[in-house]
Amino acid sequence: MKHKIAVLAGDGIGPEVMDASLKVLDRAAESFGFSVEYRRALIGGAAIDERGRALPEESIDICRSCDAVLLGSVGGPKWDKLPADQRPERAGLLALRKELSLYANLRPVRVYPAIRELSPLKNELLEGGVDLLTVRELSSGIYFSEPKAHNSDEGYDTMRYRRPTVQRIAETAFDLARQRRGRLTSVDKSNVLYSSILWRETVEEVSRNYPDVELEHMYVDNAAMQMIINPGRFDVILTGNLFGDILSDESAALPGSLGLLPSASLGPKQHLYEPSGGSAPDIAGKGVANPLAQILSIAMMCDYSLEQKEAARAIYRAVERSIEKRVLSADLLRRGKASSTEKVAEAVALEI
Ligand code: NAD
Repeated sequence: MKHKIAVLAGDGIGPEVMDASLKVLDRAAESFGFSVEYRRALIGGAAIDERGRALPEESIDICRSCDAVLLGSVGGPKWDKLPADQRPERAGLLALRKELSLYANLRPVRVYPAIRELSPLKNELLEGGVDLLTVRELSSGIYFSEPKAHNSDEGYDTMRYRRPTVQRIAETAFDLARQRRGRLTSVDKSNVLYSSILWRETVEEVSRNYPDVELEHMYVDNAAMQMIINPGRFDVILTGNLFGDILSDESAALPGSLGLLPSASLGPKQHLYEPSGGSAPDIAGKGVANPLAQILSIAMMCDYSLEQKEAARAIYRAVERSIEKRVLSADLLRRGKASSTEKVAEAVALEI
């Protein structure tokens, strides 16, 4: 079986982290009997420098021709002075997300027991482990609904959800909960917002097709608090665009480094996989960036796009074991000798 992967390394630490991480995918492919073809494409500042725009047509075509899109990160000080609508983040990444009609953002967060001292939370709050997945609706809600406007007297936005949009994201979240520990927390604000009343009704309706998944509803203010005082209680969190934006960033603080956080964004055809962090210009080119977020994004890609579930599980386990053996990049160490980007990726590959 051959899988075609669009590889868009981007800017800053993107290329070095991508190159190291693809060795893990090569190793997984070899071990589990499939092959991968990488189709490289430009995005972000690198694309502006070479082609004059952050998302050239040929990059979009390459993404559309592949089974999945693997992205590094975009942006950096070199392009910060460009007008906002030409910058790598908006004209590159946001434009690509739009081109692929991505509707669900998945952000898994694990606090690895071997490095839980990095978490800003007290150890006693991490007892029992933290392993949660936020499923955020990405295409609708207050960021996109009309009317919205601002003038010197007022500014307003509209939070609108339609039933099919909620149904689609709810089904995605229930399917994922089924593959995990079977618990789903739907987060809304239905004591105040009509859009949340529709959200809750629709999630209830969808839940009838998933009797094996335990559903609870939670108000977003309580969810924000529970994330800190009892993060281990969550399995899958399902929520809208605005609440998901905030809650997924709150959850991202739990493991103690951005370098551990992968993400997936699902679309009707190609899904996009990328680290949650940015291009880290402060450490770019030094070979010290943590590749684990990119490697875990590859594991998610094996899981959700390539149907290579065993390879995905092997990568998750390999990451855990290399952390236990303390092959760690500088962001995961309080003291001791840090391993380079290459060394961390090599250690993970060897564990597969
Ligand atoms: P950032 O995520 O790049 O960096 C924040 C801090 O985390 C830095 O100290 C950085 O060194 C560290 N960090 C991030 N990833 C790391 C890794 N893998 N290993 C070790 N340390 C890591 O955020 P920023 O500094 O605010 O933004 C830098 C650039 O990235 C900006 O141009 C921004 O617009 C862009 N950005 C891109 C994306 C994306 O491509 N998805 C996301 C966020 C920011």
